[in-house]
Amino acid sequence: MAIQKISHIGIAVRSLDEQKALYRDVLGLKLLAEEEVADQQVKVAIFEVGDSRVELLEPTSSESPIAKFLEKRGEGIHHVAYEVDSVGESLAHYKAQGVRLIDQTPRAGAEGAEIAFLHPKATFGALTEICHSKGDQ
Ligand code: ZN
Repeated sequence: MAIQKISHIGIAVRSLDEQKALYRDVLGLKLLAEEEVADQQVKVAIFEVGDSRVELLEPTSSESPIAKFLEKRGEGIHHVAYEVDSVGESLAHYKAQGVRLIDQTPRAGAEGAEIAFLHPKATFGALTEICHSKGDQ
């Protein structure tokens, strides 16, 4: 249940193609993967930053939570994701302490990870994700 590290920072963008050039060519970060996460209606570009990552998130539909975020707040940092041993156990632990959750159970994130979001009102406006990456046991 312990948090191990920052897994990634999620950044909401209007155009992956436009922003990829900055992260890859100017900042010099390695582009690890690009994929579509149907569950969240986003396209994701994942950049390696040491042991952590930056994920650029472009909505694929106007119903995407990222589309709604862009409409309200514009481009910028969307969420911070912490790597945990078990998303299910962490959710149960937070819930037992009265933390409001968006996800009651883990769901599918990018690259086969299990993810869940805590409610931003419970985390003082900083949208917080917990995740467990496939490769990390
Ligand atoms: Zn995330």
